[in-house]
Amino acid sequence: MKTLNDFNFKGKKALIRVDFNVPLNNEFVVTDETRIRAAKPTIIKVLEDGGSCVLMSHLGRPKGAQEEYSLKHIVSTVSQIIGVEVKFVENCVGEAAEKAVAQLEDGEVLLLENLRFHDEETAGDTHFAAQLAKLGDIYVNDAFGTAHRAHASTAIIAENFPDNKCFGLLLATEIESINKVMDTGESPVTAILGGAKVSSKITIIDNILDKIDHLIIGGGMTFTFIKAQGGNIGNSLVEDDKLDLAREIMEQAKAKNVIIHLPVDAVVADAFENQANTQVVEVAQIPDGWMGLDVGPKTQEKFAEVIGLSKTILWNGPLGVFEMPNFAKGTIALGDAIAEATKQGAFSLVGGGDSVAAVKQFGFEDKVSYVSTGGGAMLESLEGKTLPGIAAILA
Ligand code: AMP
Repeated sequence: MKTLNDFNFKGKKALIRVDFNVPLNNEFVVTDETRIRAAKPTIIKVLEDGGSCVLMSHLGRPKGAQEEYSLKHIVSTVSQIIGVEVKFVENCVGEAAEKAVAQLEDGEVLLLENLRFHDEETAGDTHFAAQLAKLGDIYVNDAFGTAHRAHASTAIIAENFPDNKCFGLLLATEIESINKVMDTGESPVTAILGGAKVSSKITIIDNILDKIDHLIIGGGMTFTFIKAQGGNIGNSLVEDDKLDLAREIMEQAKAKNVIIHLPVDAVVADAFENQANTQVVEVAQIPDGWMGLDVGPKTQEKFAEVIGLSKTILWNGPLGVFEMPNFAKGTIALGDAIAEATKQGAFSLVGGGDSVAAVKQFGFEDKVSYVSTGGGAMLESLEGKTLPGIAAILA
């Protein structure tokens, strides 16, 4: 696996695909800088070697060149974070871009305009990719957030750099973290899957059952499993067409010596709102008219015990409706348990959508080993898919 550290960038122009798809407020100010900060080590390494950086990214889903999606809005934030005055060119291909690159000196950084102002980007157009490829000597992919897309800048472009392509430091860390969980992690390996539905997690479950020792299930999908076992789930979220599937998963897990841990109690509410009336009941005895919106205290304790014994931990999906403070306690307790296990030496990876939001919201970001920067890319990795952006560098 070729990474940035296999190259010396002295006098070279690194063409780096970054993921600067950051949220902006109404005044076009960046409201979450995480992705820019995540790309910093790669940019700094190139500059310290004595090279220059040509950064390319998408922002949002523009239809053609729409000013509100211009990357010019983020130039000052990127400059501030990297500590170098970043130059900007108002097109990512063509004469203007080529001229700006030609004028770029060692130690300098140039940001290209939004790649998705050209439809050819998402179409994976080879001609467009070749035009982009003119803008650097070495292609670096550091955008995990788009690694599951076969777009021009994330995958197709790599053909133009048969020997001069590599993973950036961020993407390399993402790959290593996933490998630690899926292949090289120390046992016991525990996966925690929460979130809303079994149907959106089934491919992940299929793929990870061979790689883990414990599977903790929480969130809305709990109730499909509980109902499948004959429990009463009241008005809780359920996928009635997935009851057989839930039973199959339980059987498969048994055959593969994976212990499934389901909640034993639930915080139930009489409405789907924060201020609803609540009570704690056994998870398989939820009264009619009540719905399970969080795990109960006994479950929190039981899950914490399993996590305390684990050496490798993967967390995807909240244990309850964490967006409502009254139903966030189970997710917070889980975060606490994972933080403690990490302190004791376990490796913990948090990834995929809402668990990342929960981890940030509750301040666990620095207490777990790694928080993935890619939602969809992370989920597809856990599903065992080969990501086009990764395959293109390995080819
Ligand atoms: P996912 O995107 O599948 O990870 O689902 C995340 C969503 O699941 C969050 O918005 C949670 O509010 C929701 N969720 C978690 N637990 C429950 C539950 N018991 N009932 C309904 N929704 C839930």
